[in-house]
Amino acid sequence: MLAWPFSAALEFNVPGHYHSALFFVRIKLVNKQTTAHITELEHGISAIDTDYVRPLFDASHVIVQDGHAAFVDTGTNHSVPLLLDALERQGVDNAAVDYVFLTHVHLDHAGGAGALMQHLPNATAVIHPRGARHMVDPTKLVKGAEAVYGKERYQEMYGDLLPIDEDRVVIVDDEQTIDFQGRPLQCIFTEGHARHHYCLSDPTSRGVFTGDSFGVSYRELDTASGEFIFPTTTPIHFDPPEAHKAIDRIMGLQPEALYLTHYSRVMDPPRLADDMHQRIDAFVAIARKHANDNNRTEAMQKSMFSYFAEALEAHGFSADEDRLHAILDMDVMLNTMGIEYWLDHFADAYQTANKELI
Ligand SMILES: [Zn+2]
Repeated sequence: MLAWPFSAALEFNVPGHYHSALFFVRIKLVNKQTTAHITELEHGISAIDTDYVRPLFDASHVIVQDGHAAFVDTGTNHSVPLLLDALERQGVDNAAVDYVFLTHVHLDHAGGAGALMQHLPNATAVIHPRGARHMVDPTKLVKGAEAVYGKERYQEMYGDLLPIDEDRVVIVDDEQTIDFQGRPLQCIFTEGHARHHYCLSDPTSRGVFTGDSFGVSYRELDTASGEFIFPTTTPIHFDPPEAHKAIDRIMGLQPEALYLTHYSRVMDPPRLADDMHQRIDAFVAIARKHANDNNRTEAMQKSMFSYFAEALEAHGFSADEDRLHAILDMDVMLNTMGIEYWLDHFADAYQTANKELI
């Protein structure tokens, strides 16, 4: 989800307003655990809490097939002991991990991949062509993130990113299928959140590992109406038409379950797809509405928070405002950054394209 440090690294373009005191206050990375919180699902799939930001916020999934394992996303360097603990508790030897699938190379998904690979002698990292070089040589990634956070804070959040040996990387094509112990896993390219993103389709479970392409859905927002989902529009690749396309492409696989990195399995894809489409448009509308406000960032954040509050009330989720802020402020802030970045760099082109469509 957290696009901006990585994106900044790619672009060497860190606008001043991306620095936000609130963001630094909200992220707390304390109480490092070494015992993993594991949620065992079906079809050999488990979610491992990477202990990033708060409980049940950032998942790594592990698929176990015939005594072998594959990870989908890894969390950060700090997650590695947890992932290794989870493997051990599943009775899988480190040497029997065949693949580390990285849906995209944002640091909360792939920051720990290099360190994890050092413990997995036979694993291959499977990466999108636009992301692979940055996992082989994370120099730019580190520099950019340090520029955003400052060296000390960056170090605390992500630690030293270890490179992945080029020989251990498979750069995938769109729709490429990887054979994992006879279980086909297909990479489906999805832009809209990040241009280096793929989803991993798993026909065996009728599931799709969606990274950040099908939004985020926190388990603490579940109600009798089911799961609550919304897009993550973090800078700098948010692209509304592509985000819509990604949802359609995932739904074209007719999944019964989606495995989101934030956070894990959701079960009603058609309803959630409708919500995603609606909310992508709602976020674009918020961006447009406040485009020329004097205090644009604050206006958008307020507007997005109100949108969430209303939508959650309709969803049957009741909480006082403080709790809502605790759950949502980081997303409100990062999503606002993303829609502002889009507004400043791409919105005119979007408008032109839309006019052509009309
Ligand atoms: Zn992301």
